[in-house]
Amino acid sequence: MALKILINGGKGRMGQAVADAAGQAGLAVGASVDVGDDIKAALATCDAIVDFSAAGATRTLLELALAQHKPVVLGTTGHSAEEKKKLLQLAAGIPCVWAGNFSIGVNLLFALTRRATAILGPDYDTEVIEMHHRFKKDAPSGTAARLLEIILEERKLGAEALRHGREGMTGARQPTEVGVHALRGGDVVGDHTVMFAALGERIELTHRASDRAIFARGALRAVEWVVNQPPGVYDMQDVLGLQ
Ligand code: NAD
Repeated sequence: MALKILINGGKGRMGQAVADAAGQAGLAVGASVDVGDDIKAALATCDAIVDFSAAGATRTLLELALAQHKPVVLGTTGHSAEEKKKLLQLAAGIPCVWAGNFSIGVNLLFALTRRATAILGPDYDTEVIEMHHRFKKDAPSGTAARLLEIILEERKLGAEALRHGREGMTGARQPTEVGVHALRGGDVVGDHTVMFAALGERIELTHRASDRAIFARGALRAVEWVVNQPPGVYDMQDVLGLQ
């Protein structure tokens, strides 16, 4: 029998994309809930949760999933680092795939960024540029945040190395800086570029999403995978076997 998913944030752009993709992925939508709906009752009839809602909803969602032992695929972004740390402790009690980006192409970009950063080293000034539609509520995007985490890990730098925009900055760029720039406009689904610039050459790794169905398909692939995993927090690199 097809796995039954509960979609949280069902009326949103991603919630609808997940509902549209479910049939093709061989999954059934047991319930689709949004602000004000009784998620607790709906969850009892489903096998797993797919969440694309709002950062403020994550704690309650994880508590409900823990109480009912339901795996979660969590796509919502916009949590502060401190908030995320606490939420990860909760999520570890259930099988949970938490990914800032469920696209297969972007997950390859993550792997390529790690490799390029390691090979190129600190001589190559590294900047992350992202662009999203005018309605996006958080900045930088969860995907940009993950790219930055990877770069900082490989370069052994702390969060103080990040330069968001550069408003008011005086003086030359420091080799230990990692820049991040968020552009907003129109209906752009999601563009991410990691730029490595040295004296005499520049390398750019770019991913452009043109249809949010890619995130929905990735999230549904994560559902099929996570229902067979022990409790713990996983990401798309685990689902795709990229690490
Ligand atoms: P959206 O604004 O179109 O939809 C969000 C929906 O969630 C709305 O219908 C809203 O009413 C609902 N919602 C808000 N609070 C809720 C709550 N407490 N309980 C239930 N529903 C609630 O946004 P979107 O473009 O669909 O994106 C949703 C989230 O997913 C954002 O955080 C976005 O950044 C993220 N996102 C992640 C990925 C990924 O691959 N991880 C891809 C795209 C978007």
